[in-house]
Amino acid sequence: MSKECSKCKKNPSIYLRQYSGEFLCKKCFLKSVEYKAKRTISKYSMIKHGDTVAVAVSGGKDSLVLLNVLKNTLFSQNPELVAITVDEGIKGYRDESLDIVRNFCSSIGVENRVMSFSELFGLSMDKAMEVRPSEKISSCSICGTFRRRALDLLAESCGANVIATGHNLDDYIQTFLINLFAGDVERIGWTYPEPVEYGVTNLRKIKPLMEIYEREIVLYAIHNNIPFQSEECPYKDESIRSAFRGHLNNLEKIHPGIKYNAYSSILKIAKKVKSANVPSTSNVNEGVQQERRRCTICNRDSSNRICSVCRTLDLLVKET
Ligand code: SF4
Ligand code: ZN
Repeated sequence: MSKECSKCKKNPSIYLRQYSGEFLCKKCFLKSVEYKAKRTISKYSMIKHGDTVAVAVSGGKDSLVLLNVLKNTLFSQNPELVAITVDEGIKGYRDESLDIVRNFCSSIGVENRVMSFSELFGLSMDKAMEVRPSEKISSCSICGTFRRRALDLLAESCGANVIATGHNLDDYIQTFLINLFAGDVERIGWTYPEPVEYGVTNLRKIKPLMEIYEREIVLYAIHNNIPFQSEECPYKDESIRSAFRGHLNNLEKIHPGIKYNAYSSILKIAKKVKSANVPSTSNVNEGVQQERRRCTICNRDSSNRICSVCRTLDLLVKET
């Protein structure tokens, strides 16, 4: 027999939240995830009255859960929520997730807009991988650079001023460790969750799930019958991120709550580093305030004379 829920003291529990020792029934568990996301949004003033929020939805669990949470909580009655999806052009992988997103959005009554790398940049990820001049230019760095731009353009095309992404607590700690081990201290400051406006349309990027464990996001998706793509991208780098993910999960098994403690410490470090940063060296895509400059090719915000999208395109197009 399962234990009774520690919150409602009524229903049988389906989950033991190891780090707090709580047993939770399905209803209380789902509510607790939504509550945590709402608390993060309000703590960092992520969404303000009148904002139109574009949720970057890939078809993976995090982004679909984020869309569902926002629809169930802050946006149950109003239409200022839209799902934006980038089609990178990865045959056999992206097609399935596009269907998942389209069907899920129509089931919850949210508009879904899609833009492809081919229509925006003239080449798909499959093509980019074929023509990249060296393996030193990693698949995920090409894809990430293009995807950030595509999301900005998609959000602008919907009249949205906020882009919400599904990064979770595990992602946040891994990113910190990657920056730490790369010696990139300044970037640690950029991860502090205070949204900053950038671009001509004053976009803000927010991460409402950043205080929720990845494991709980999977569980939320399963108990809400949210279908998600679990197949991995064929171009995924076996990056240091996967190694940190494994180590952190092992540590959490032995010391429940260690990820949460790490998260709290990282926030304090990020805040200190951010306040000590020199603004003009910061990066547009992280949404950090800086002296505004424009790319001399595409005329979008850039911290250099030529932006990273135009530089990457130049490298790839030369080879086609
Ligand atoms: Fe793009 Fe890398 Fe993600 Fe594949 S794994 S979709 S290449 S960022
Ligand atoms: Zn440019």
